[in-house]
Amino acid sequence: MPNNSKLTNKVSTIAVRSGINIDEHYGAVVAPIHLSSTYSLNAFNEKRQFDYSRTGNPTRATFAQAIADLEQGSVGIVTSTGMSAVHLICQLLSCDDTVVIPHDCYGGSYRLFTHLAKRGLFRLVVVDQNNDVELTKALAQQPKLVLVETPSNPLLRVVDIEKIVNISHDVGALVAVDNTFLSPVLQQPLQLGADIVFHSTTKYINGHSDVVGGVLVTKEQALGEELAWWANCIGITGSAFDSYLAQRGLRTLPIRMKQHQENAQQVAQFLKSHAAITAVYFPGLKEHPGHDIAKKQQTGFGAMLSFEIKGGVNAVKKLFAHLKLFTLAQSLGGVESLISHPSTMTHAGMEKEAQLEAGISQSLIRVSVGIEAIDDILADLNQGLVQSQL
Ligand SMILES: *Cc1c(COP(=O)(O)O)cnc(C)c1O
Repeated sequence: MPNNSKLTNKVSTIAVRSGINIDEHYGAVVAPIHLSSTYSLNAFNEKRQFDYSRTGNPTRATFAQAIADLEQGSVGIVTSTGMSAVHLICQLLSCDDTVVIPHDCYGGSYRLFTHLAKRGLFRLVVVDQNNDVELTKALAQQPKLVLVETPSNPLLRVVDIEKIVNISHDVGALVAVDNTFLSPVLQQPLQLGADIVFHSTTKYINGHSDVVGGVLVTKEQALGEELAWWANCIGITGSAFDSYLAQRGLRTLPIRMKQHQENAQQVAQFLKSHAAITAVYFPGLKEHPGHDIAKKQQTGFGAMLSFEIKGGVNAVKKLFAHLKLFTLAQSLGGVESLISHPSTMTHAGMEKEAQLEAGISQSLIRVSVGIEAIDDILADLNQGLVQSQL
């Protein structure tokens, strides 16, 4: 059977065609889900392609290949969650290795790295990667791994992937990029020199808020094989059912991203000129400090944004109470618009001082802009913001 996704490197075609028309038994256009945990041998000591589903599964393998093709990498590994993809990368580390992570990385990643470092599994350096002095000092410790996440959560800070890759490679470090906020449709870190790219597929890749999953892609075959070996060893590979659902979501990723970011740009413009708003953080706005780097390394500005509301936490409460279309929930990247309060939700684990240092105030609100009709999104925000100031 032809692997249609190999015809091209255009994301829309890969997303739609990956795993289509590969069923040799019935010619099913959409391949069936392979739920079997185990596979027969052809004969004594004659294994087939798959033998046990923790190690390898046809449905998961098809999805892994699709993401690897989208990121233009060598090996794709589907994991049970985004966090297990991060944990998988930690298998590359020994106790005398140093890891550099950004101070504003995803809260779950921050928790994992800090707690493993506390147990002495590796040394950890936490830096603001936009601060050249701090970053140079960190790299002088010759780290084994540099973790990058851009744009960041919840302030959408942007760092220059290519620049960090170059100075990290100079000291022999591997660079792994969390690409969850943009998806391979809007940013391809391996093309900018990174060694590993990973995603929480829970977010844009699945896109329908009904799967928790992760995926990791390596630029080099050997590193991918090493990580795939570990994924099987520690047992964090993703399920066939989740892989099927995520691949189903993936087919519309490019067209969803198009609508997501079109809506987000309009929401950002609207908020910018609203009397109840004191600041808007969105890389698509010219005045955003990361705008130029985002323009250089991304093919779009994404659909995550945050803003500060006048009137502090009271105004936040009133806004949330009056919104009808937006859902008050953490997570992001689904077709539905979500709104959240980082200080009491996603970043509640941080001390108040640490929150303020990271720029997360009580009046900061984060939005995952969905693909509903833009007029409805803006009307709901407007009536909620008006109510918030009464
Ligand atoms: C959600 C998220 C993760 C963790 O993924 P899970 O699927 O929740 O385990 C990692 N990084 C980023 C940027 C995320 O948004």
